[in-house]
Amino acid sequence: MKKVYIKTFGCQMNMYDSARMGDALGVLGYVKTEVPAEADILLLNTCHIREKASEKLFSEVGRMNEVKQARRAQGLDTLLIVAGCVVQAGGEELLRRAHAVDIAVGPQNYHRLPELVTQFNRKKGRVVVADFPAESKFDFLPETRARGASCFLAVQEGCDHFCSYCVVPYTRGCEYSRPADEILAEARQLVATGAKEIMLLGQNVNGWHGEGARDLGDIIRMMAEIDGLERIRYTTSYPSEMTDNIITAHRDVPQLMPYIHLPIQSGSDTVLKAMNRQYTADQYCEIVDRFRAVRPDIAISSDFIVGFPGETESDFEQTMALVQRVGYASSFSFKFSARPGTPASLMKHQVAEAVKTERLMRLQELLLAQQKAFNLGTIGKTLDVLMVERGKEKGQISGYTPYLQNTHVVADKALLGQIVRVNITGATATSLTGRIVD
Ligand code: SF4
Repeated sequence: MKKVYIKTFGCQMNMYDSARMGDALGVLGYVKTEVPAEADILLLNTCHIREKASEKLFSEVGRMNEVKQARRAQGLDTLLIVAGCVVQAGGEELLRRAHAVDIAVGPQNYHRLPELVTQFNRKKGRVVVADFPAESKFDFLPETRARGASCFLAVQEGCDHFCSYCVVPYTRGCEYSRPADEILAEARQLVATGAKEIMLLGQNVNGWHGEGARDLGDIIRMMAEIDGLERIRYTTSYPSEMTDNIITAHRDVPQLMPYIHLPIQSGSDTVLKAMNRQYTADQYCEIVDRFRAVRPDIAISSDFIVGFPGETESDFEQTMALVQRVGYASSFSFKFSARPGTPASLMKHQVAEAVKTERLMRLQELLLAQQKAFNLGTIGKTLDVLMVERGKEKGQISGYTPYLQNTHVVADKALLGQIVRVNITGATATSLTGRIVD
């Protein structure tokens, strides 16, 4: 039996892509393994969004090359494939730096993996495929199956916003929205094979503008008709593309979870403008208010970048004030890191590393305090938790509340994949504990 080992770096879209690459190789008879030494194909799915993620790839290629050489010593051939955004950003450069890589394939071409694998010939040399094909890869991928109770489903890809710090428009290309009927067919297939929750994915998910529906709100409403689908989520949203139809879906569709990831990046209008984000801090807060008007308990999360070029102490204070104003249930925050080829990498007035570090610490302290307060606020409540994995402690399993809080209970693993009622008895900044109630 031929085996493939897949390691994923980066975002949920990459996790989805990895699963679909596994599906594509499955057509050739490859089954997944968690043990690199057993694998005929070693596949690294890469992320280019931050410098650290790209650099991690090169150390991982080194490790995979050791596996490849050890297998060669046993007379076994191994293909080392690198996929994802690093390839799109510079596949030839990747092959130059990483001699062990046999095939490099960009995120828009992974449907071609079976052909690339079967046609690979060491004598003809290594292969890079990193164009933006006219056809949609989704038309060529085999049907997918649920890999657990909670599944990803890509509805939209690429981005037309060109935030000045971001590589996505260059690595994923311009926006493409899958037709509604294709999304619904994949959702039905996932539910039929065990999914209870579907997370709709897109780099600009609420900018969905495909055939067969007006917007993502319609897609959500149509998905709610699927028997057996108990939870719907979506990420990542762009604030100014939020429609009333999506917002009111949080009121009208019980399956749509009361959680929205709405990245603002900065609370300063000056910085937002330099970032080429097309909204102001006040407009962002108005959108949050509209969500809270229809769904008062909704949990809001966000992304923040500190130390963007030109960010002053006063700009940063405006971010802190915005965080106080909104009150977040969870958040992701990072220091600005210049990505090659983006306008922000060429901007003057780069902020000193020590200043970035100090601001990030202040911001994270506030965000963590808010996250902890949000979690503590659920103690004593009884919440539905979708159990998805075994806990680290013996006899423990864990899952997620409607507000996406990681929750641990002592319970039989037979409950994995089920939604159970949990009385919350404890909380930290990062997780909840509770006991199952009848
Ligand atoms: S909206 Fe998001 S994906 Fe698009 S360019 Fe901006 S940060 Fe990148």
